[in-house]
Amino acid sequence: MKVIVMGSGVVGATTAWMLAEAGIDTIVVDRQSSAANETSKGNACLVMPGHSLVWNHPGAPLDHLKSMLQSDPVSSIKLLGNPGIIPWAARFLASCRKSVSARNTLLNLQLARRSAGLTRQIIEQQGLDVGLQTNGSLYWHESKAALELERGHCEFLNSQGVRARIIEADELTSFEPALARSQRELAGALHVEDDFSADCRQFAVQLLERAVNLGKVRVVFDNPIHSIESNGTTITGIDTADGRLQADHYVLSLGPESGRMAKPLGLTLPIAPAKGYSLTVPVRTPAQMPRHGGADLTEFVAVTPLKDRLRITSYASFEGFDQTWKKQNFFRHRRVVEEVFPGLVDWEGEQNEWTGLRPMTPDGLPVIGNARPYDNLWLNTGHGFLGWTQAAASAQVLLHKITRSARDDCCSAFDLRWG
Ligand SMILES: Cc1cc2nc3c(=O)[nH]c(=O)nc-3n(C[C@H](O)[C@H](O)[C@H](O)COP(=O)(O)OP(=O)(O)OC[C@H]3O[C@@H](n4cnc5c(N)ncnc54)[C@H](O)[C@@H]3O)c2cc1C
Repeated sequence: MKVIVMGSGVVGATTAWMLAEAGIDTIVVDRQSSAANETSKGNACLVMPGHSLVWNHPGAPLDHLKSMLQSDPVSSIKLLGNPGIIPWAARFLASCRKSVSARNTLLNLQLARRSAGLTRQIIEQQGLDVGLQTNGSLYWHESKAALELERGHCEFLNSQGVRARIIEADELTSFEPALARSQRELAGALHVEDDFSADCRQFAVQLLERAVNLGKVRVVFDNPIHSIESNGTTITGIDTADGRLQADHYVLSLGPESGRMAKPLGLTLPIAPAKGYSLTVPVRTPAQMPRHGGADLTEFVAVTPLKDRLRITSYASFEGFDQTWKKQNFFRHRRVVEEVFPGLVDWEGEQNEWTGLRPMTPDGLPVIGNARPYDNLWLNTGHGFLGWTQAAASAQVLLHKITRSARDDCCSAFDLRWG
């Protein structure tokens, strides 16, 4: 059997690794000159079963409207010049019902939990140098009401076997000494022991190298895919800048580009790009680095130690495929970090501004499975804000589906479900 994997982001690279380990000849094709050079490059690097929710919930439409009315909205949506966003938003709203949201959160959590275990195993067995940090994640709150809601989430996590507990305000600074100088009064935090952080890009790059070393994978970089060719029921090849490539099976893992690539085949794959912004900055005193990656859930800013630097991420803007940024897009990052960890960051050092497009499905679940009616086209995409968290289990599920080698009971929910 020979498989072409389209895309070498963390999802495509991990898929190629799983295929190679199963002894399957694989070609990986990407338009970039190295792996994980788009959305998987500058993300928050949190592997977070503890935060594997869906963004859909009954209060989401109102929360979104309130956010839009602020001068610096953390989430925003552009309707004009953003084709496809209105039907996408209608589908999003349809998945905000309490029962649907609860079911989908549970599915995401189960996939994330399985994936976190597999990811740790791969990092440790392959000896990947990815800045693995295993103290768990911390999600802190300013408001007592938000912390009360977090207690409910903590109980839910515990009921699903995820180790988590609430850290009360008076315990917070001994638990995370980097918070001792916070200028904001914090109500407490959720600590998730089973979350961890590691450099997502480095994971994809090094894992793909390992896959090549197994002798089963060939990687073709700098090679944009123009189209996928079919005879109506079977994929017959892909048309790339370097010419036509053929295999027995094809995996579509083009992140936010997946929907556009699938459209000419008549497939409905509603994936909206949700733009996020990150800074990766040096710290003044490494000894003062936070012990935990995590997030300020009042301001929706994630903060992750990556070796000697700090990654700071925020925002979700649904404004199409535009990837430009302005200076003010990083004001929130700087303000929050200065308020919570004053003096930690050397703002004169290199800032590494970056934007990336989360591949968001309207119901918040990835798509992992066959792209009917095409018997040999497979989808592993649409992981939204959880692609790093869910990549390893998603790749394993897909391998089982392609090879029919094991039954994955979890996974009919991730099949293609529109059209
Ligand atoms: C600000 C931010 C913070 C995030 N934080 C986290 C986090 O902490 N934890 C977490 O789990 N997830 C996080 N995410 C989400 C995560 O980064 C994504 O879900 C994940 O990177 C998606 O991976 P992917 O492989 O599907 O897509 P990508 O990484 O985008 O890979 C797609 C690949 O396809 C290639 N490609 C596209 N079109 C073509 C074409 N026509 N021809 C050839 N190649 C093509 C691209 O070059 C790219 O390499 C975050 C995202 C953002 C933006």
